[in-house]
Amino acid sequence: MADVLKTVFLTPSEISGRVFEMAGEISRDYTGREILVIGVLKGAFVFMADLIRALSVPCRTDFIRAASYGAGAESSGKIVITKDVELPVEGQDVLIVEDIVDSGLTLRHIMDTLKSRNPRSIKVCAFLDKRKRRKISFEADYVGFSMDDGFIVGYGLDFNEQYRFLPAVYVLDPAPAREKEENG
Ligand code: 5GP
Ligand code: MG
Repeated sequence: MADVLKTVFLTPSEISGRVFEMAGEISRDYTGREILVIGVLKGAFVFMADLIRALSVPCRTDFIRAASYGAGAESSGKIVITKDVELPVEGQDVLIVEDIVDSGLTLRHIMDTLKSRNPRSIKVCAFLDKRKRRKISFEADYVGFSMDDGFIVGYGLDFNEQYRFLPAVYVLDPAPAREKEENG
């Protein structure tokens, strides 16, 4: 394993146990309905694949992608949708599936964009919540795990497009300088 991956944060069995629990909770909440699951690319694709296969309600799936722009180490908060949803959102029970809620700016923008298309309902399911790093108030409806600080990779999460394939989640050590342009 790469020597920047010293610490396992979540093992594959911890992940699958929690994903199964979350899918159970979501299935109960949406009993009798069909969900339009919208994954936020790229980071959420592995989580979403596991989550939807553990649901006991039907769903359709689509994807969205956003980028945040800013000079220097902190994002300016300017979020742009770089790949939009293709299915109609109006009248649908939308569940946005995201990898990590950090500042909250990306999900706020995606939420507002999709809400303006009049879904029947809209909720957010996040694999991981970094609550202490919020720049705006934002609450996900379903949260898998939490952490205070640190940068994680694996299970779909990358650093410079590396490590997404890893089945466990690792803390990247040393942590990267926080300079991000493209999310996910
Ligand atoms: P924000 O909530 O700040 O708008 O953006 C959240 C996005 O930042 C996540 O979707 C993810 O792409 C990226 N991000 C935040 N923290 C981490 C982390 O620890 N690891 C990785 N790989 N991406 C992160
Ligand atoms: Mg990323």
